[in-house]
Amino acid sequence: MDRRPFIAANWKMYKTIGEAEAFIMDLLPRIKDVKDRDIMIAPPFTALQAVANAVKGIEQCFAAGQNMHFEQNGAFTGEISPVMLRDIGVDYVILGHSERRHIFGEDDAFINKKVLSALSHDLAPVLCVGERLEDREAGMTEEVLRQQLTKGLNGIAVEGNSDLIKKIIIAYEPVWAIGTGKTATPEMAEDAHSFIRKLIEEIFNSTIAENILILYGGSVKSSNITGLMKEEDIDGVLVGGASLDVEHFERIIKF
Ligand code: PEP
Repeated sequence: MDRRPFIAANWKMYKTIGEAEAFIMDLLPRIKDVKDRDIMIAPPFTALQAVANAVKGIEQCFAAGQNMHFEQNGAFTGEISPVMLRDIGVDYVILGHSERRHIFGEDDAFINKKVLSALSHDLAPVLCVGERLEDREAGMTEEVLRQQLTKGLNGIAVEGNSDLIKKIIIAYEPVWAIGTGKTATPEMAEDAHSFIRKLIEEIFNSTIAENILILYGGSVKSSNITGLMKEEDIDGVLVGGASLDVEHFERIIKF
């Protein structure tokens, strides 16, 4: 088992290029001795090249897109392609974030096309899954996760693709915990994570399940990360609001 902690920032629609550059220049010296974990930053597209340039050559730091289209190019106004992300030195892409699913209507089949496309362009997809409050209250959490994962990861044959599959990261983000200040307790999150790991074993195999990174996201802060990271199946975090402040994000990274 080789699961290094993975700390990811999702800046959503915050920060200009100048603000993003200033953040990275402030962050890098603070974390120069942190070598035992990986750090990913997903700025808005306009600041993505600046962030990719700033983290270039820093072994444990990566830039990520917050979304992408699955086609390489075409008449898709407002979209960004995997080729364009690779072109500016991006290694990761967040796919199926709950804001994409619930505000912009992305469904599992659409997200699956993006996952397949990311992998075929050597981009590591961070596939987000998670139930809404009404799903949880109706006892449907596991069913929702099963649907999102089996459909989102559809069409990836294990044979001959294990190196590709190793790139996949899953982020469990209960929708009711995103941006609300309500965090799942470590025990609730661990239940979902261990269920997800079992599903990954069903979809792929036990070796992939043991090695895949499963991140928790939903109102993660420096005050709650330690408890979450103690859980066996929580390998890292995807952080929205609390990743916008450099001092707070440094504390999260150094949990
Ligand atoms: C997110 O955007 O993925 C997220 C988890 O946001 P927040 O940390 O603000 O809840």
